[in-house]
Amino acid sequence: MKGTMKAAVMNQIGKFDFEERPIPEVKDDEVLVKLDYVGICGSDMHLFEDGYIGENHVTKPMILGHEPGGVIVETGKDVTDLKVGDRVAIEPGIPCWKCEYCKSGRYNLCPNVYFYASLPVTEGAFVEYLSHPANLCYRLPDNVSTLEGALMEPLAVGFHAALQSGAQVGSTAVILGAGCIGLVTMLALKSMGVSTIIVVDLMQNRLNRALSLGATSIVNAKENDSVQEVLKLTHGGGADYVFETAGSEVTIFQTAKMVKRGGTITLVGYTKDGIAKMNVNWLIDNEITIKTVFRYRNIYPKAIAAVANGIIPLKKIASDIYDFKDIQAGMEHAIHDKDKVSKCVIRINPDAQ
Ligand SMILES: [Zn+2]
Ligand SMILES: [Zn+2]
Repeated sequence: MKGTMKAAVMNQIGKFDFEERPIPEVKDDEVLVKLDYVGICGSDMHLFEDGYIGENHVTKPMILGHEPGGVIVETGKDVTDLKVGDRVAIEPGIPCWKCEYCKSGRYNLCPNVYFYASLPVTEGAFVEYLSHPANLCYRLPDNVSTLEGALMEPLAVGFHAALQSGAQVGSTAVILGAGCIGLVTMLALKSMGVSTIIVVDLMQNRLNRALSLGATSIVNAKENDSVQEVLKLTHGGGADYVFETAGSEVTIFQTAKMVKRGGTITLVGYTKDGIAKMNVNWLIDNEITIKTVFRYRNIYPKAIAAVANGIIPLKKIASDIYDFKDIQAGMEHAIHDKDKVSKCVIRINPDAQ
């Protein structure tokens, strides 16, 4: 054994305890990563606040966190393309690489995936060290920080949404919801040349952030009829692409009224109980395509390249950074101040740049 590390363990709903855990052993095809930063995701907040997501309930101590970035401190003997000292973004889902989905490249659909902090998996990234398959650790170029490495995970979701929609250069898009996933979807679409992006939310703080990150227009749905506003902004025809990231029944219903005839709706946000109404006749009469998004696949290298090229100001997504010892406060801030927080990140290593 090589000593112990600190882990933030959720022994009961809504509370972290620090425990000492053994630093993981490294398998031949793995690397050991000393974590610098780990983002708090919406799913972490749900599990922390409610103790369940959908039908999956927390029934034993759990370590949350699945958005890690850090530095390699050890490599397994079969690892040839990464070395000690490399800074990496860690893709947190480990697929089986054997099933039909993995074999066809759609490994995000792998039924045997081991994904950190996603039940039934109760191991997560709010720890000082992770051992992880080398082929799911992506080296960061010199001009990309490990903070941005941690943010690659949500950005990958945004890119997957943008790519799934089939968005074209010069088109128009509406994004419902200006939380983290709404914002990263916007950044991905912008980097792909979508020229007009309208962002809709209920909270003005969030809308202001969307504007500062490059939204073409914002609509406050609390003060306006957002369908009418979107139609006005698109000169009556609606947008080519509509992205639903808010996960509310109201916004899901509105998507069909905001999309152009023949356009595409992409559903990203979960609703609380999974149920939502849509006007099917309207969808049919207007030949609207509905796409869905589950996590991401084959995105990290592209996302890292886009950030390295400077076309995505990813760092600006991180609104709050808390030290590991203050993870309880960071999580509570993220949960209770949703209007102020776009992404709360935990600095695991106090010396991280
Ligand atoms: Zn996440
Ligand atoms: Zn598989």
